[in-house]
Amino acid sequence: MKKIGIIGGGFTGTMTAVQLITKSSGSCEITIINERETFNKGVAYNPYSEKHILNVITGKMSAYPDKPDHFLDWVMSRSEFQDRDKTLIENSFLPRKLYGEYLTEIWADTIKTADSKGIDVNVIDSFVIDLDVNENSVSLLLENESNLIFDECIIATGNQIPRNPVVKNNEFYKSKNYYQNPWLIDSVKDLNNDLPVLLIGNGLTMVDTVIGLLEQGFKGEIFSISPNGFNILPHRHNGLKYTKLTDELSDNLSLFELVKLVNKHIKMVREYGVSAEPVIDSLRPHTQKIWKKFTDNEKELFMSRLRHLWGVARHRIPLHMHDKIQKLQIDGRLHINSGKIIDIIESDNFITVEFFNHHDHTMQKLKVSRIINCTGPETDLMNVEKSFLKNCLIKGILTQDKLKLGITADTETFQVINSEGKPHISLFTLGSNLKGELWESTAVNELRGQAEKLAERLKTAEHSHEVKNAESL
Ligand SMILES: Cc1cc2nc3c(=O)[nH]c(=O)nc-3n(C[C@H](O)[C@H](O)[C@H](O)COP(=O)(O)OP(=O)(O)OC[C@H]3O[C@@H](n4cnc5c(N)ncnc54)[C@H](O)[C@@H]3O)c2cc1C
Repeated sequence: MKKIGIIGGGFTGTMTAVQLITKSSGSCEITIINERETFNKGVAYNPYSEKHILNVITGKMSAYPDKPDHFLDWVMSRSEFQDRDKTLIENSFLPRKLYGEYLTEIWADTIKTADSKGIDVNVIDSFVIDLDVNENSVSLLLENESNLIFDECIIATGNQIPRNPVVKNNEFYKSKNYYQNPWLIDSVKDLNNDLPVLLIGNGLTMVDTVIGLLEQGFKGEIFSISPNGFNILPHRHNGLKYTKLTDELSDNLSLFELVKLVNKHIKMVREYGVSAEPVIDSLRPHTQKIWKKFTDNEKELFMSRLRHLWGVARHRIPLHMHDKIQKLQIDGRLHINSGKIIDIIESDNFITVEFFNHHDHTMQKLKVSRIINCTGPETDLMNVEKSFLKNCLIKGILTQDKLKLGITADTETFQVINSEGKPHISLFTLGSNLKGELWESTAVNELRGQAEKLAERLKTAEHSHEVKNAESL
């Protein structure tokens, strides 16, 4: 019987197991290692607030690539939605907590399927702290000191907590008033209303944190700082599908040619009162292919010059959330800054943050009671302390892409590539670990397809494993 291990049971790990169980003929044992609290939900779908909502509409959040209405139908079958208009719900942004419940229900149904097929499924409430490979197997060391050996192992570790920005006094990051993990409720609780709070980062996590602070009754001012200080955009032009750009896409466009093409189309849509987002959205189905064709220099240029603009156009918030953020700015409760933090000094009663303001080119100081890091998941795994992924990079079992966006892997087979440039036959990865290979490898839209494709591949291998075992008898 083939033993498959999955490290991480967020959306990606859960849906890979679901797909494996659904496709399997029964001759395998599946073990998922993930702490109990976030199992099935991961970071995204285990939020501390009901007000943390999906950034994708209901109609596009099915967990299955071949059943586009699966989430919508699940939502509409619940009593609290039965008197609601289906088109309205299809186009709305629902709570991420609800999506977590959806995944837990999918898992409960899948366990019944596993039982009926005689597939053993184990969920271990622990953390993997080390990994080693042998010719045909992978061994794991868990935090609870147990050792596990698998014929095949899938790394589905997803989002890492944000990195600490480099400042003169890095010692500050040991302070109890610094919250590196913005996804835990502690980061927004028990605040001093007399002093402002500083959020580092101006993206979606900043918005969630502002919502969280207000929900916890915080009455003070909120400052945010990011290098570009872009204001987050709302979802406008609801569902507008722009197709003209893709008609002109060809396989070998350079980054320069692509930018020229995109700018041409943005100019065209603006004539009709439409902003850039539908043009950028129209590239989405082609992004991975385009990224793979870019040279290393083009990828580097994109990351240094265009990534932030891309992020703003791609990662938008629902209109009502955007209105809320704008109102907070108008009321003087939220101040969004473009700047670079130079130093952070903590004294007995407050924290002084010194930053260079990109807007007026001056050095400025802020006095705050707390700093919350909202810069988004770290991708350079060498920066993730106490991580088995870092150990694997040091041992040469794994490698990173040049831009340190993720793990190097074959995107057809999902096999990781070692320091000798060889794919490992038993070790796989998917999800945000493939960002360096695919750029867009973060949202449900991409991950559900990867989970299905990897399960299909392992099923085929399961068959050859059976044949190999039968031959050796
Ligand atoms: C706040 C937030 C909101 C988002 N909202 C959306 C959205 O609305 N729509 C959308 O499409 N996408 C959204 N995303 C993108 C999101 O990353 C994916 O949708 C998806 O949830 C990723 O799942 P994952 O399993 O790959 O990663 P994660 O959710 O990060 O799950 C990984 C799991 O692996 C576990 N793990 C990690 N290391 C180990 C280890 N060593 N041992 C054992 N377990 C380990 C973690 O504890 C975690 O439970 C959001 C992301 C974030 C961070």
